Amino acid sequence: MASACLVGVNCRYNGSSKISAPLLEKFLGGEVIPFCPELLAGLGVPRTAMQMEGGQGFAVLDGTATVKTVTGEDRTAEMVRGASMAADMAGAVKPETIYLKTGSPSCGWGMHKGKEVVGVTAALLARAGHTIKAVE
Ligand code: SF4
Repeated sequence: MASACLVGVNCRYNGSSKISAPLLEKFLGGEVIPFCPELLAGLGVPRTAMQMEGGQGFAVLDGTATVKTVTGEDRTAEMVRGASMAADMAGAVKPETIYLKTGSPSCGWGMHKGKEVVGVTAALLARAGHTIKAVE
């Protein structure tokens, strides 16, 4: 499985993608299944950019942090729902590795622009024991 924006799906908040050439090759070879937790949650494209407040993805799952749009609307419920749907998908697919886009409040995993970002979906997938690789 891989964040859909990494294989060319224009599902980022601003309607763009962030293609990773090696992952696109895997996708075209039938080796990865793309998914976008924010689309699964029904947030649509384009959408207002979001950020975590009060903690990272693990804290959002634990109810001690939130996700809000940059204009202040609470999207915590949608982000947790999208994470849950992605986790259900991973539970069915049982991928060897899940490739996630860095820096995202959903898919973020590891360092991005000098700080660690762990998104809500990434946190749930990690808690479920999946192997995650971060892709810029
Ligand atoms: S939620 Fe994940 S798959 Fe969707 S656009 Fe953001 S980083 Fe890409």
